[in-house]
Amino acid sequence: MTNAGEPGDGDVDDERWTDDATDADDETGLADATGAGGERPPGAGRDPLPIRSLEFLGGLASAGGWRPETPLPEVAFAGRSNVGKSSLLNRLIRRKAFARVSRTPGRTREINFFLVNGEFVLVDLPGYGYARVAKERRNEWKPLMGEYLRHTRQLRGIVQLLDVRREPSPEDFEMLDYLAELEVPVLMAVTKVDKLKPREVAPRVRQLAIALGVEEEQMIPFSAVTGRGRDELAAAVTELVREPAWTPP
Ligand code: GDP
Repeated sequence: MTNAGEPGDGDVDDERWTDDATDADDETGLADATGAGGERPPGAGRDPLPIRSLEFLGGLASAGGWRPETPLPEVAFAGRSNVGKSSLLNRLIRRKAFARVSRTPGRTREINFFLVNGEFVLVDLPGYGYARVAKERRNEWKPLMGEYLRHTRQLRGIVQLLDVRREPSPEDFEMLDYLAELEVPVLMAVTKVDKLKPREVAPRVRQLAIALGVEEEQMIPFSAVTGRGRDELAAAVTELVREPAWTPP
């Protein structure tokens, strides 16, 4: 299926819009209600990633398709469908504008690019492994991911999401092996930790780290409902942005 006929399809300029800081506090009515609110709890300290602006640059829909020309650092987010990626990104960048794009039909299978604060580009990779889609469609993300990695010159790293309650899927392993082979720096965000009892979180994160063969320190427990992990993730992304660009081996 193509995205023909969707608003702005094929003409990136038509669909550019920006979401400036003025409506940042107006997002608590989001359908998923997973805490996209911009308010900071008392005593939360300095925000490691204050969001001043967000601009949707457009989407990469197929191999050979358009992608933004940008000299700015890129940080990409990956994970299986339903892992909580939209909710995590809503929390991270505190913008209903993000939610609007991520829910547009057709966009869910594209790689979407967002300019954050005019400083770096957040790359939202398509969710993979959705159980209800046909097998051949389930693998659609692979060529697109390859296309993205072949053409990016500014990638700093990938934030890989894992649902705290689920065992990593074959696609999760496949993605992590692929990234390891290419030596792409990877951070892990373990989502939906509010679904466990607080004392269960650390042992479960350790278990996941062992299963995946990664350092526990690479894993950030996250909840879009409580906001747990938002600042740790924001700080880690900020650090990643300052690193030199990834170059293919
Ligand atoms: P995506 O497909 O990866 O973008 O996932 P979504 O962000 O749309 O979330 C999938 C489902 O998980 C939705 O029903 C969300 O409300 C729920 N969800 C996402 N993040 C969290 C979280 O941190 N805690 C809880 N309890 N539910 C979450």
